Amino acid sequence: MTATTATGGGSAEPIPLRENRATPRRHWAPVVRNREVAEATWWLEVDAPEIAAASRPGQFLMIGFGVENTGAPFIPRPFSVGWRSPEGVIGLLVRAFGAGTRRLGALDPGDDVLLLGPLGSAFRPEPGRPSLCVAGGVGLAPFLFLAPEFRDRGHEVRLLYGERTGARVFDPDLIRELTRGDVEIWTEDGEAGSRGLVVEGIDLSDDPILMGCGPTPMLQALARTAFEEEIPLQVSVEEHMGCGIGTCQGCVVPAAGGGWMKACTRGPVFEARELQWEL
Ligand SMILES: Cc1cc2nc3c(=O)[nH]c(=O)nc-3n(C[C@H](O)[C@H](O)[C@H](O)COP(=O)(O)OP(=O)(O)OC[C@H]3O[C@@H](n4cnc5c(N)ncnc54)[C@H](O)[C@@H]3O)c2cc1C
Repeated sequence: MTATTATGGGSAEPIPLRENRATPRRHWAPVVRNREVAEATWWLEVDAPEIAAASRPGQFLMIGFGVENTGAPFIPRPFSVGWRSPEGVIGLLVRAFGAGTRRLGALDPGDDVLLLGPLGSAFRPEPGRPSLCVAGGVGLAPFLFLAPEFRDRGHEVRLLYGERTGARVFDPDLIRELTRGDVEIWTEDGEAGSRGLVVEGIDLSDDPILMGCGPTPMLQALARTAFEEEIPLQVSVEEHMGCGIGTCQGCVVPAAGGGWMKACTRGPVFEARELQWEL
């Protein structure tokens, strides 16, 4: 990645990215509901009131099944908190990649998962400026949580969501219900929403700050825009993670000034200018 110039941005926002973190809790949580909402994609709801109450948009959970249920050690997997209900149900958007995600997709109501969270840093609104959230694939998850939370605190939010194919698009009606707002959808095959890449939908005319979560090429495109236009950008990086708590060092990302930062404890939400980019 090439070093980049810093964007503008510091604000007096009272909810900083990294401070005021709740102590993570580890406990079993029952599945309330699990349904396939798009191709190889599930909306999984678990009952975890303590973790739900402590979570902020952008934070994540490590989800495991416990040795007693797997018959073998199974490394927990990281998932963004995708939503929370007032009663403490947490929603998770799960897309099948391998054994862990397929297992999550196969869970039934009443099954238990082992949660550790909330973990990591959160997205931060900037007072008086709209948050333009750009999601690629299951990078949608943190913004399902963020949109209603920010709106409740009086911040304007716009949501752009892209997928490769229409078959992968998470139900737009459910997105509107969860976020209590609108969503602009982009697909590369043109089978849902507008045809093209989600970043083509970026409109900077109302002086937004940018927030992104999704594949690296999408984050790079966002970073190019942010640096050229001198707009603050926060990104959530979905690196592979072994522990989620800073021990294994499996999730390090290159820092702008040299060296490395752990995505699990310093991130997953970073100011774009903190990272070293290949642009
Ligand atoms: C902070 C954070 C938040 C996340 N939030 C979500 C979410 O809300 N919803 C969601 O569906 N996923 C999310 N992920 C990704 C999710 O953790 C992985 O898809 C999951 O761990 C894969 O586990 P698995 O057992 O299915 O696949 P594995 O068997 O571990 O891997 C299967 C294949 O997928 C590849 N792979 C695994 N993880 C990733 C990854 N992160 N990026 C690219 N390729 C990968 C592996 O290299 C391998 O080829 C998040 C990741 C992080 C770090």
